[in-house]
Amino acid sequence: MLTSIAGKSVIVTGGSKGIGKGIAKVFAAKGAKVMIAARGEEAAKLAVAEIEAAGGTAAYHLTDVADWTSVQEMVAATVGAFGGVDILCANAGIFPQMKMVDMSPDDWDHVMSVNLKSSFLCVKACIPIFEAAGKGRVVLTSSITGPVTGFPGWSHYGASKSGQLGFLKTAAMELSRYNTTINAVMPGNIFTEGLQDLGEDYLKTMAASIPLKRLGAVEDIGNAALFFASDEAGYITGQQIVVDGGQILPESLEAIEEI
Ligand code: NAP
Repeated sequence: MLTSIAGKSVIVTGGSKGIGKGIAKVFAAKGAKVMIAARGEEAAKLAVAEIEAAGGTAAYHLTDVADWTSVQEMVAATVGAFGGVDILCANAGIFPQMKMVDMSPDDWDHVMSVNLKSSFLCVKACIPIFEAAGKGRVVLTSSITGPVTGFPGWSHYGASKSGQLGFLKTAAMELSRYNTTINAVMPGNIFTEGLQDLGEDYLKTMAASIPLKRLGAVEDIGNAALFFASDEAGYITGQQIVVDGGQILPESLEAIEEI
């Protein structure tokens, strides 16, 4: 049983869909006040309505996490709505699949901006708030793709997700002076709208390659983020945890067939 997270102010970027919505719901169910930051208003409104219908507290702010001004406004809006920012879940990300032969330098830069530069921008914008409060928590959503595994079509994505873990280590040292921790969750294949777009065949093959024989649920990632945000995890910083149903474990097709 973790110490209560009730009343804490939490920003979840990409909280309108998929893993971010799962994180938002897990925190809201524990009594946190959740700011959902995403670009699309319809999905953000819906996520807020779902949280409120379940008795939680949420608001949304239309944000582009790759844009410094927009990120600063997101943090200011959260302070205005909830009186501060206790926890930042920097989760928003994109995974357009394209092989290097088809990838333009602009395609590369775009994924880097949304997935990697955004981690720096969101953390940077929260530093004055964490400094004033004398505490803070950051949870990044990275991936197994890049840091641990590869997949054709995701060279830019994998690099961005590995980059987040490189950022994490020095960020943990710099944030320690504000009594703030930063850690990362590395999801395997989690069932989301984004993943659904990759098609039925992809989802079926993926589930078969996972020792626990199912794709992850968004709540599986929300629960790991909740732990990093808890008081009990206060001495853990600069670390990462894989949440993948054992997906990275089999060393061959034979190994998975042996189960
Ligand atoms: P998703 O279902 O496509 O949701 C992505 C969320 O990010 C949406 O809320 C989207 O809202 C938001 N977003 C995208 N670009 C944004 C931008 N520029 N500014 C602000 N918000 C933006 O994706 P997901 O599968 O939940 O993935 C979420 C995170 O988990 C990503 O970082 C991804 O790399 C990571 N991840 C996912 C999986 C998986 O299996 N699903 C596995 C490993 C890691 P708008 O489009 O309206 O802005």
